Amino acid sequence: NNVTAVISLFVVLALMQADFAARHALEREMRKSLARGDFRLYYQPQIDNSGNVFGVEALLRWQHPQQGMISPQTFIGLAEETGLILPLGEWVIKTACAQLVAWADNPAVAHLTMSVNISASQFRQPDFVQLVTEIVRRSAVRPAKLKLELTEGVLVRDIDGVANRMHALRRLGISWSIDDFGTGFSSLNVLKRLPFDQIKIDQTFVRDVLRDERDQGIVRAVIDLGRSLGMTLIAEGVETEEQREWLGACGCEAYQGYLFSKPVPADDLVAWISSRSG
Ligand code: C2E
Ligand code: CA
Ligand code: CA
Ligand code: CA
Repeated sequence: NNVTAVISLFVVLALMQADFAARHALEREMRKSLARGDFRLYYQPQIDNSGNVFGVEALLRWQHPQQGMISPQTFIGLAEETGLILPLGEWVIKTACAQLVAWADNPAVAHLTMSVNISASQFRQPDFVQLVTEIVRRSAVRPAKLKLELTEGVLVRDIDGVANRMHALRRLGISWSIDDFGTGFSSLNVLKRLPFDQIKIDQTFVRDVLRDERDQGIVRAVIDLGRSLGMTLIAEGVETEEQREWLGACGCEAYQGYLFSKPVPADDLVAWISSRSG
């Protein structure tokens, strides 16, 4: 018995070390890739009830020279733990702004707004407001084109501090969206006290919304709540026309999902939009 216990302990330690080594290697690779320019932004269109594309969400991709495309699920968590999310997140905001400015000359995409995901640790940096303000100023992007997405994780602590930051960037013209709404621990108090412009209905509620009465109840309630607080509603992970119709009948105003398009590189997005209207 003692022997088994000792063996199990060694196995656990070995696994921990292997995990540590793997994470360390991943972190090193991420640093190299950031310096080398292996990260990309993909864009997923957002569609309104008339079928118009009015905006996009920027989604980060890691184009690793040997391992190919790596999904953010694999590296965002580690980037947050190691602090790499700060330079990476700054690169995301800069690149998204530069893309908006580049699109301003193209009538097919000049009208688009851009949603950018902001991680909790990024938002909590004391100079976050200043950083975004500088990037916006230097890139000469119209701030009203920018929408920043926060998840509920950011919002549980220091609600006054959070509100102040949001208001500061809002005064510039930037708007705010609450991402993955309903999946975290935030209370309705958060919606009451923070100046959000948009609620994103999480894809976990959308997925089974035609079959699951509880998802239907939640989605209806979120839509009513958002509307009565004067926020716009967008559903993510919309994969079928039936889902879109159901959501629309409940008062949802905008949609994002594979029904329309996966996240794609900028050139593909322009081509896709041009082919829809042409
Ligand atoms: P998210 O912000 O909730 O983004 C939505 C995710 O759902 C994206 O995954 C998108 O590709 C995927 N998706 C879109 N439509 C559909 C659909 O119809 N069906 C299904 N099953 N999935 C759909 P992705 O691109 O892998 O990103 C995963 C997460 O990584 C994001 O979730 C976000 O939390 C994080 N992330 C991505 N880019 C960034 C970034 O630039 N900064 C930060 N901080 N996080 C990011
Ligand atoms: Ca998002
Ligand atoms: Ca989301
Ligand atoms: Ca999510």
